Amino acid sequence: MEWSEELAGGLLQAAPDAILVIDGERIVLANDRAEQVYGWPRSELVGQSVEVLMTDEARVLRAERRRLFDESPPGSIGSIVTTARRRDGSSFPVESSTTIIETPQGRLAVAVVRDVTERVRTEEEKARLLAEAQAHRSQRLESLGQLAGGIAHDFNNMLGVILNYASFVIEEAESAEPDVSMIAADAQQVVRAGKRGTDLTHQLLAFARREVVRPQPVDLNAHIVEVQELLRRTLGEHITLIFRPDPGLPTVTCDPSQIEQLLVNLALNARDAMPAGGNLVIDTGLLDDRVRLRVSDSGRGMAPDVLERAFEPFFTTKGSGEGTGLGLATVYGIVTQAGGEVSMTSEVGLGTTVTVLLPAGATAAPADVDEQPGATDGHGETLLVVEDEDALRDVAGRILTGAGYRVLSAEGGAQALELAAGHDGEIDLLVSDVVMPGMLGKELAERLVVARPGTRVLYMSGYAQPVLASQGTLDPGVALLEKPFTANDLLAAVRKRLDG
Ligand code: ADP
Ligand code: MG
Repeated sequence: MEWSEELAGGLLQAAPDAILVIDGERIVLANDRAEQVYGWPRSELVGQSVEVLMTDEARVLRAERRRLFDESPPGSIGSIVTTARRRDGSSFPVESSTTIIETPQGRLAVAVVRDVTERVRTEEEKARLLAEAQAHRSQRLESLGQLAGGIAHDFNNMLGVILNYASFVIEEAESAEPDVSMIAADAQQVVRAGKRGTDLTHQLLAFARREVVRPQPVDLNAHIVEVQELLRRTLGEHITLIFRPDPGLPTVTCDPSQIEQLLVNLALNARDAMPAGGNLVIDTGLLDDRVRLRVSDSGRGMAPDVLERAFEPFFTTKGSGEGTGLGLATVYGIVTQAGGEVSMTSEVGLGTTVTVLLPAGATAAPADVDEQPGATDGHGETLLVVEDEDALRDVAGRILTGAGYRVLSAEGGAQALELAAGHDGEIDLLVSDVVMPGMLGKELAERLVVARPGTRVLYMSGYAQPVLASQGTLDPGVALLEKPFTANDLLAAVRKRLDG
């Protein structure tokens, strides 16, 4: 059928999108909508190069455009999303579909151009809201982790008090003339610390992963093989465990016992999701510069609202006594502490996949403080012990005095500096807590060493060296004694620092 010019013209004008006909370079036809979209009157548009409607970036592709125009078979349609330019110079996003037609007047390109400003805006808005929700979620998990970490820190101090006072009790009881009132007083300290610990246990929850971690280079594949038996027992006989290791995997730096905990937690969830049996597949691989550990089950999966909240501490869909809601929160804590990321996808009825990405490659091992039994006694050296926890400071003071050191002690940085300023003799060693209210151990040490350049420093902390170093609380490589410590640990570390 021959279409009348009227019909063709009507179609052009009725179209909701801008339509341009181009002879390879110049615009030969434009509809009403093109006038509105580009802001050019049609009379001016026709005859111009199509490049007036393009941004500078798009113009660069002239040769490519020409080639497509010359070589595309008639009828073929190509679509792109790009940026177009209005007459006033402003740019806007468009989706443009172009087809080539052969006419008695020659080869022509017909471009149908849609302004997608609105769509792009909604998509950007959606992405922004999603990112915001994600940031919010990880912030919440982070603060909960911090809270738990703080509790663990306090608890560690209490254990230090309990262990040391208990050993004082034993020592005194075993001495030739036991002093009963001293034993009673020391036992009282044990009881007091124990009571405070009981209060704290209510808050001290499994997702506190800020305990002293001992990161080391770990061969993930070998470690998974090691814990495979444990996982099999966890899963039960109705579930098949399949392990697909990537043999060329670099090491990851983490605490192996935490990896074990992570795998067990994921296996427990998988088991609960597959009451009638199924498969649990663990596979490893390298993704860019990160090691990927994936755990997939063929279980019942999760609805989006459950998936959304699954990592939250205490979120559980299981009955009381069955779920704590801490399994995945713990996994999250372990992975983020190791500098990695964890994500989860799930489909109801199909299963769940948890993906963990850990930084590849080994970092320097933490500076260790060796225990050297034997000649660890003092020879009258002066130590300045700074610790905000009273009982722990007393314990340390007593151990050190008993071993032949002279001990000055302070409960914080300010008091320590004051004490040092008023002290006439040498101060051979500062033994300081790292995290204290008022002044961090690092600042105290820096200020003290300025006034007394000969003074050495030994830190004590319940936090692991990598944690302290990564947060800037402590420089890497300094001497650190981990809490809780025994009398021997303390004496060995002090001696080593004085002699080293
Ligand atoms: P808990 O297992 O104690 O409930 P988790 O933090 O381990 O706590 O998991 C939280 C919730 O996420 C579970 O109650 C469950 O609804 C869901 N979930 C976790 N892992 C899986 C899985 N592999 N398949 C299906 N649902 C899961
Ligand atoms: Mg669980």
